[in-house]
Amino acid sequence: MLLKLPKLSYSYQDIEPYIDKDTMKIHYNKHHLTYINNLNKAISEDYNMNNLSLERIIEKVDIKYPFIRNNAGGVYNHNIFWEILIPPSKFKNPSKKMDKIFSDNFGSFNSFKKKFSECSIKLFGSGWIWLCIDDKKNLFICSTPNQDNPMMRKINYKGIPILGLDVWEHAYYLKYQNRRKDYVSSFWNIINWEKVEDNYENYIKHCVIAN
Ligand code: MN
Repeated sequence: MLLKLPKLSYSYQDIEPYIDKDTMKIHYNKHHLTYINNLNKAISEDYNMNNLSLERIIEKVDIKYPFIRNNAGGVYNHNIFWEILIPPSKFKNPSKKMDKIFSDNFGSFNSFKKKFSECSIKLFGSGWIWLCIDDKKNLFICSTPNQDNPMMRKINYKGIPILGLDVWEHAYYLKYQNRRKDYVSSFWNIINWEKVEDNYENYIKHCVIAN
């Protein structure tokens, strides 16, 4: 298995003014590509891993193997991130159906936004904020450090991410410097809610969470 950078459905500058072109370019072409190259090299040398899908590697890899874990997470997490972004000119609010799902799980869509934002500001250091679905089909918000995610072992929260926000400084520092809060506020203008809904539907139809 040789992993490649996924194709973006927009150009680097299309997410402006919320994420600037240079950040998008470096983030995708340098950071994400480095995780891909590192993972390709690592799994080519590991016969236990080299026939597995990326999802299986994510579920299987223990903290004893930080190089594979960090780089597999780096690949998978960024794949999700690019997919759930949309140029602000194409932005649409969540559908009525998603709105109801947010109300059922968090009280309201606004209350979900508030909790997600709080979680992203609370996370110390580098990591990710996730909206996940658990094995009872409930949604929950959590953060993970580094390039971990809630499908991995030794994570307190178990679920499948359907939306993720990268809060590593490399995701925002050129434009926002230390102002993570402003970056998180911007995120609400560039979420592809149709894709998030697809992720939700796909889980409901096909996925089972590994224990
Ligand atoms: Mn990143």
